[in-house]
Amino acid sequence: MVIDPTTILLSESKQALFAAIVSSSENPIISKTLDGIITSWNPAAHRLFGYSENEAIGNQISIIIPEDRLAEEEFILEEIRSGKPFDRFETVRKTKDGRSIPVSLTISPVKTSEGRIIGASKIIRDISEQNKIVEKQAILAAIVDNSDDAIVSKSLRGMITSWNKAAEKMFGYREAEVLGKHISLIIPADRLEEEDYIIGEIIKGNKVAHFETIRISKEGKEIPISLTISPLLNESGVIIGASKIARDISEKISSQKEKEQLYRKIKVLSRKKDAFIAMAAHELKTPVTSLSGFLQLLQKQISPDDKNSDLVQRCINRVEKLTMLVNDLLDISRIQGGKLQLRIEPFDIVALTEEVIVPYRHITTHQIEINAPESVRIMGDRMRIEQVLANLIGNAIKYAPKGGTIGIEIAQDKENVFISVSDEGIGISPMHLAGLFTPFYRVADPENRVSGLGMGLYISKEIVERHGGTIDVTSQSGRGSVFKFILPKQTASEKENCDS
Ligand code: ADP
Repeated sequence: MVIDPTTILLSESKQALFAAIVSSSENPIISKTLDGIITSWNPAAHRLFGYSENEAIGNQISIIIPEDRLAEEEFILEEIRSGKPFDRFETVRKTKDGRSIPVSLTISPVKTSEGRIIGASKIIRDISEQNKIVEKQAILAAIVDNSDDAIVSKSLRGMITSWNKAAEKMFGYREAEVLGKHISLIIPADRLEEEDYIIGEIIKGNKVAHFETIRISKEGKEIPISLTISPLLNESGVIIGASKIARDISEKISSQKEKEQLYRKIKVLSRKKDAFIAMAAHELKTPVTSLSGFLQLLQKQISPDDKNSDLVQRCINRVEKLTMLVNDLLDISRIQGGKLQLRIEPFDIVALTEEVIVPYRHITTHQIEINAPESVRIMGDRMRIEQVLANLIGNAIKYAPKGGTIGIEIAQDKENVFISVSDEGIGISPMHLAGLFTPFYRVADPENRVSGLGMGLYISKEIVERHGGTIDVTSQSGRGSVFKFILPKQTASEKENCDS
């Protein structure tokens, strides 16, 4: 037989072309004999399995087959011997360093020019990434399926493209009923323009978050929902639609309504309470004032040696206490009605403090110490500041039942005067500090050892703040407390005005 040299040249160049394709392929391409001996091994196979061409050729194909899959190879060879190709056979292969790699195999028989099968060629694709994507998609699908929120997707023209189980439950339509239908199916007629706004935002690439609105169920029920809508992008990043997550907020709305109702009720009750305090204080004021007057008259009429004189004095003391309580109640109603009047005048707060402590020195065994500069002038309501001092000193005595020292410090800087009243009494635990200056707040005292109504500190705070100052406390349970207040001093121009 005469062989045409052109045919030889053609067949040689074809082989060279195949060799170039195989060697530059991104996928491993290998071939083996029917006994499983490797006969070719391209660079991609080297990269994937770690064996070089020299190491692999002549070796058994089983070097890349996990032990538990060796039987698979027998089956593949059987099929190849009978001339059957395999396409996309998914299995696992192992690398030189023992890692398992999920692969897809395409196996074809290798035949001689006479058509005799002498081996097989394999194109191997690493499908780890593909498997990861599939896995991720399955996880996402499960999340969407099991979500309590309705998750719906739609095209830019508003056509529904997916509808999860929660959407079926929330809106009453099955997925098959709504796919391809327009989203306006669940939008109330008077809210249709919302859809134009949402799509407008989506087209701009914006997310619409926590958009509270109403949608309609299949039975026509209005459902208050909170919507979060995000653009859906295709692989090239082009916006092709929107995904909507809808949360049923019926409960939130009804609990909000309940809260509002409760708030309104509390406000009404609080107003009633304020009105009651104001009325009670005014009703008490007149008889208490008269009683005080009568008692003083009576005191004047009986001789100090009379056996009833002591009784009358005790009555006067009690009525004084009652008068103070009534005055505190009146102050509270004035504060709450915004009617607490101040009569501002210049005075010396050191002199005032010294005056205030005189009566206390007579009635208590506590040591009262005062440490103050000679004089500090302030502008304020003398009687109201006296009330604050009396309340703090009175409390220091009341809440230090075992006695001890009551220290009064007055200090000043250019602008302010700092007054503190300290005691060595029962102290206040940290959890009560925040409530102290609120109306009627008293630290729980199960034995009710010290009487009071929790009005003094609240009134003191109001008075100090109305003077542009602040009041504060530091305390340690069982060791004592320090109440401090700061007031602005009389300014030079105020002093000048007063002097002229
Ligand atoms: P009252 O003394 O009439 O109850 P206050 O408003 O003056 O009202 O005081 C509120 C509460 O603060 C008191 O009931 C008491 O529990 C606590 N308190 C005030 N001053 C002191 C103090 N110096 N030491 C310990 N606790 C105090």
